[in-house]
Amino acid sequence: MGHLVVRSTTTLEAQLNPVKIHLINPSHISFGTAVITPRWLYVLAGATPASFGDPILVDETLAQVEPERIHAGDIVGIGIHTGNALRGYEIGKMARERGAYVVFGGIHATLYPEEAMELGKAHGVVKGDGDVVWASVLADCMKGEPKAIYLGGRVDASQFFPARWDLLPRKSYMWASVQTVRGCPKHCSFCSVWRTDGQKPRQRSSDAVIEEIVHLRRLGFRFVALADDNFYPVTLTDIKLAERQGDKRRIQELTDLRAERFALMEGMTQLPRDMIFFTQITMEAAEDPTFLDAMRRANIKGALVGVEAVTPEGLKDVFKEFNRTGADLVAQLKTFRRHGVHVLGSFIFGLPSDRPATFEATAAVAQEAELAFAQFVMLTPFPGTVDFAKWEKGLELDPTRIGGFPLTRHWLIPQELRPKLYCAHPVMAADEIRQRTQGVWDRFYSLGLIWKRSRCVKSLRGRLTFTLVSKLYRQMYANTGIATDSARAARSARWARWIAMPLQYLFSAPPMPELQVPVSIEIESGIPIVASSS
Ligand code: SF4
Repeated sequence: MGHLVVRSTTTLEAQLNPVKIHLINPSHISFGTAVITPRWLYVLAGATPASFGDPILVDETLAQVEPERIHAGDIVGIGIHTGNALRGYEIGKMARERGAYVVFGGIHATLYPEEAMELGKAHGVVKGDGDVVWASVLADCMKGEPKAIYLGGRVDASQFFPARWDLLPRKSYMWASVQTVRGCPKHCSFCSVWRTDGQKPRQRSSDAVIEEIVHLRRLGFRFVALADDNFYPVTLTDIKLAERQGDKRRIQELTDLRAERFALMEGMTQLPRDMIFFTQITMEAAEDPTFLDAMRRANIKGALVGVEAVTPEGLKDVFKEFNRTGADLVAQLKTFRRHGVHVLGSFIFGLPSDRPATFEATAAVAQEAELAFAQFVMLTPFPGTVDFAKWEKGLELDPTRIGGFPLTRHWLIPQELRPKLYCAHPVMAADEIRQRTQGVWDRFYSLGLIWKRSRCVKSLRGRLTFTLVSKLYRQMYANTGIATDSARAARSARWARWIAMPLQYLFSAPPMPELQVPVSIEIESGIPIVASSS
């Protein structure tokens, strides 16, 4: 009975609206509720000309795509990164078989457009940012002449499209996401951001960001992730270096970027005080107390900090020698906390310099530094990174095939056959690294330690939320990522779904449809001043 109703609805839909735009975020696991909104879906919806009507947005981290909603002549946009490329290709094949135009985008498609065409049956691939080029893609598909490649390039911040948050299923996500800057000036060896998004930060104007946040609060979101590559794109050292070199143009450029950051944070102080923000930042921000204090005033209460390794050798392995180690590292991480910014520390295991003792030492640092949350990931060479290029070269002559694919195309290996570790380690077996990594997750997220850490929030409701978030984080990332078998991964997904339900309720707030955008901010010599509203 239910099926009949669905079919008749979709047929009617197709008759009324011959061409539909579908935007799909692939995932092989669906949790029913997601933590952060996949922003690209809503930005591309914003870039879709009104003449096409509202696009159909599918986030498979919530629920799988329904093939029967895709009709011949429809246009299907699929955004992929390396982790979900295989699922994306399955969807592309299915959509093409149903007669739709299939267009891929995202970091992975940018790096491997031929793969998206061969395995995902793409008619076209957008390389780079989709914001501006998307309208031409749609126009070409409507003419029946999609191009194989569209060069989206790196769009200037002034051309970023506002997201269509009005299409968001409010109850499905815990946190909204807003981007304030794309690109990162660093060059970490395991990261592709600086090579794909560029090293020149493209920073949105504070007014545009504030307006978007206000829109989200009107809808009832009070938790917002500032989903930036690096929220702290200019360090004090960068400015000192430019001053030493007497480079006036550079000094001005850096000072302007920094002033805009402060203007944004000052603007955020005018938002409802129940709003809480999280972001991603480099550890150097700990040397900049003025910046940290501005973060606190702006209610940016949490930041993901890439600690990566706790030894000098480990940092050298990942080209991140600007990070500290030992007692210095602990002190630096504690600085964030002192300024009211709670840290989610990110660590990598499986680096060539790691030894069995590294796991214990890392767990101890995470504990001692009073991190609120931590993630422990196993080194995986991702395309677009320096690590990957080196690793791929080293395996040129390796005849190993798993599921018909070489290790250097690990994302194409069927999920159940995929190894958990790809880089041979000089002293430890892959399974030892996996087990030790799992051990560190288990220890850090034991109930006793979570409850102790939850003292960083005051109310009982806050402490309960903290505990549930910790458990959810562990279920979503530790078990599904490191688990050796699909049954364990499926069990984890089920648990995550149960934990996510009450959390969604705890994170929501009554909508504020009347909320106004605060008055704009003036900037004088890099010091933000709140404009008087009188
Ligand atoms: S890991 Fe972070 S700091 Fe390093 S390049 Fe990537 S975004 Fe920048």
